[in-house]
Amino acid sequence: MSDPVSSEDVAVERSETRAVFINVGERTNVTGSARFRKLVKEGDYSAALDVAREQVESGAQIIDVNMDEGLLDSEKAMVTFLNLVAAEPDIARVPVMVDSSKWSVIEAGLKCLQGKGIVNSISLKEGEEAFIRQARLVKRYGAAVVVMAFDETGQADTYQRKIDICRRCYDVLTKKVGFAPEDIIFDPNIFAVATGIDEHNNYGVDFIEATRWIRRNLPGAHVSGGVSNLSFSFRGNEPVRAAMHSVFLYHAIAAGMDMGIVNAGQLSVYDDIDPELRELCEDVVLNRRSDATERLVEAAARFKGDGAAKREVDLAWRALPVEKRLEHALVNGITEFIEVDTEEARAAADRPLHVIEGPLMAGMNVVGDLFGAGKMFLPQVVKSARVMKQAVAYLMPFMEEEKQRLGLTEQSAAAKVLLATVKGDVHDIGKNIVGVVLQCNNYEVIDLGVMVPTATILERARAEKVDVIGLSGLITPSLDEMCHVAAEMEREGFDVPLLIGGATTSRIHTAVKISPNYHRGQAVYVTDASRAVGVVSRLMGDREAFVGEVRTEYAVIAEGHARSQEDRRRLPLTEARAKRFKIDWSGYQPVRPRFLGPRVFRDVPLGDIVPYIDWTPFLSAWEIKGTYPLVLDDPKVGPAARNLIRDAQAMLKQLVRERWLTASGVIGFWPANADGDDIVLYTDDSRTERLTTLHTLRQQMARTTDRGNVALADFVAPVGSGVADYVGGFAVTAGIGEDAVIERFSRANDDYSKILSQSLADRLAEAFAEAMHARVRREFWGYAAGENLAPAELIAEAYQGIRPAPGYPAQPDHTEKRTLFDLLGAESEIGLKLTESYAMWPASAVSGLYFAHPQSHYFGVGRIERDQIEDYAARKGWDIAEAERWLAPILAYDPATVRTRAA
Ligand code: SAH
Repeated sequence: MSDPVSSEDVAVERSETRAVFINVGERTNVTGSARFRKLVKEGDYSAALDVAREQVESGAQIIDVNMDEGLLDSEKAMVTFLNLVAAEPDIARVPVMVDSSKWSVIEAGLKCLQGKGIVNSISLKEGEEAFIRQARLVKRYGAAVVVMAFDETGQADTYQRKIDICRRCYDVLTKKVGFAPEDIIFDPNIFAVATGIDEHNNYGVDFIEATRWIRRNLPGAHVSGGVSNLSFSFRGNEPVRAAMHSVFLYHAIAAGMDMGIVNAGQLSVYDDIDPELRELCEDVVLNRRSDATERLVEAAARFKGDGAAKREVDLAWRALPVEKRLEHALVNGITEFIEVDTEEARAAADRPLHVIEGPLMAGMNVVGDLFGAGKMFLPQVVKSARVMKQAVAYLMPFMEEEKQRLGLTEQSAAAKVLLATVKGDVHDIGKNIVGVVLQCNNYEVIDLGVMVPTATILERARAEKVDVIGLSGLITPSLDEMCHVAAEMEREGFDVPLLIGGATTSRIHTAVKISPNYHRGQAVYVTDASRAVGVVSRLMGDREAFVGEVRTEYAVIAEGHARSQEDRRRLPLTEARAKRFKIDWSGYQPVRPRFLGPRVFRDVPLGDIVPYIDWTPFLSAWEIKGTYPLVLDDPKVGPAARNLIRDAQAMLKQLVRERWLTASGVIGFWPANADGDDIVLYTDDSRTERLTTLHTLRQQMARTTDRGNVALADFVAPVGSGVADYVGGFAVTAGIGEDAVIERFSRANDDYSKILSQSLADRLAEAFAEAMHARVRREFWGYAAGENLAPAELIAEAYQGIRPAPGYPAQPDHTEKRTLFDLLGAESEIGLKLTESYAMWPASAVSGLYFAHPQSHYFGVGRIERDQIEDYAARKGWDIAEAERWLAPILAYDPATVRTRAA
């Protein structure tokens, strides 16, 4: 997990709800899919299951199941199919929408569902009484419901009819039935446009505008629709239909449509649509001109063959000369033919090395240029690197043989770069990406891995005569370790540039803390992997000039930083305490957790965790910025993001099926009360014997608002309040086995898959924490037993309570993990270890505390003053220097200056 350095006043509030669009797979519908109908009728349920699986694989987040067919026993078919689905973890991980116009079929289906189901659909068709009866039953099953905009007089076609009916249904459901608004999904009817009948021309607009109205006026409710209807008049012309659907969705989603029944595998991306076709579709969907239908019909034939034409082009590159084929393979990341092509180039070249220096490097230069110009993105570059590496691996034996024969020594790399994650730290995804990107640019990379002590770094740097050293770190204690490496380099007379990168590092820290330790050389902060090549190439080229620029920049930063520190007024600790975050404990009745002490969960099925994955940070690990899933349609990075997600999903599926990783966790609850800024845990409910103490830090910033100077202890009822409060803790990992996986891909020269697996393991750990937290709220602690949120809502953190992690802004002290791990028995029970810097190992792990109070929230402690350091050191049993060391990143003062002043 990433470890944002706490910066002043950056309360990390992640409550804003993200725009989410949920794909409902439509192919498991006997009326909508001839293939599915045939399979069900023939009783070939295993092939029918494949239809469901294919949809989930291609991104459906819900599957709609419909068995309404005259000659079918629909009830029986529904039950048979859903029971089979339940036994397939890769399908059953998505919810089912039970779709029927017959209530008996719906009810039969609901009985088979294990998780939360969705009923499709109910309406006022048969009057309010029947509507209420069915809604009550749906509610009893805890399911959500699709409400069709239909009433006693028929289906709603105009904007006005749509919103009138939805308003009426909403009122009945929320007021008379007591339905949760979040469980209502309106389907305001998507009808076919471009039918040649003028009255149909505005159907698209009516739907979109009704959607906008519903989202504004019927709070909580969702909007869905069956998208395929829209393009009914273009049956047989899939490219045009797909284009119409994505144009429609583009506008409908912007208006608030958050769910849709679609053929998930077949949507095209708005920006990828041929611009001419897109405009024609837009004219139709938005009813922008009277001849829109005519024009689209006329043009449609021209776009029909699109799919087939593309296939031919796909392999056309095989006819190119070998240099161009190598370039194509590199730019497109295709490994399929790399050995054949490399061999062909080798056979034609004088020496194997010439293949590398010639066509392969030329191809990589194209990659580099495209990357530099923002036309390729990191995942693609890493894929290119895989192609390169496999080509080089193929040539290696030939070069060895030649070397033996001619007694050559070869030095072809532009420069040697040594990379290491510093001692005590374990994370290396970012570092691995940097290594790959540098290798792509003909730099030789010596990667020492993780937890590398200073002495090893310097020894190897000397022995290998490296030109640059790069250090990586994820957690704040690594900052200190990097200062130490810099000082040692100075002491031992090094002058090679020192690159600094990783989640916890920053330009300010590099300028203010690391750079002054290393005068002979220069420390340079590298924002992200995409900058690494630029920095190294300048260091290898006009080093003097570049270092001069960096020095000037860092001097300015250091000065500005010093000034900003002086400007900030902070409160004395006593005053900050007086202004603590005040919760009214009178009348607050904490819920007692269902059990006290730790409980272990070993080998939790990965399939259960997958739906909770937050893909936004996954993309950001690959330096694709933007919110998932909106980013998939981004004009610039959309295609790269989609390809990466597709690769990730494929690997995830295999990873789950073949159990590459083991997920285990331990959680616990204890009677607790706040004691000043500490939280005391008791051995049992009698609260007579103290078990241990959790320490928290308090904000000291002078505020102009009355937000309070918060410490986590404020979220727990104080000792003496008479309130029997509780606190929980957790440590989970999805990384057991990850080393073997990484090793396997390394050996196969497949950095792309290696980094992909690492970033997936990371996501699984976070998703596990999310899934576990949900169960804690509902079952184990049970303070929100009635909570029923979809994974997307969980990711948006729309729930009561928090799970702050030590080392994060609300508790920047990583050493608190020791107390937590001891309480949980995390090391002995699930094999999760802490390094000397309190990084968790395996790296794909998350730990933290649970707080239940509705007012508990995430915040950043910000900078703290010497008075709090003294107080905290006393509470932790540390001397001042040790407190200053562990809390270095959040000190509001420079310990060195304070000491000199005191002397
Ligand atoms: N869905 C995200 C969740 C990770 S970030 C993902 O998959 O990456 C959210 C988590 O980080 C929180 O649950 C909490 O454990 C931690 N966190 C975030 N802000 C924090 C803060 N200010 N203080 C302490 N922990 C915080």
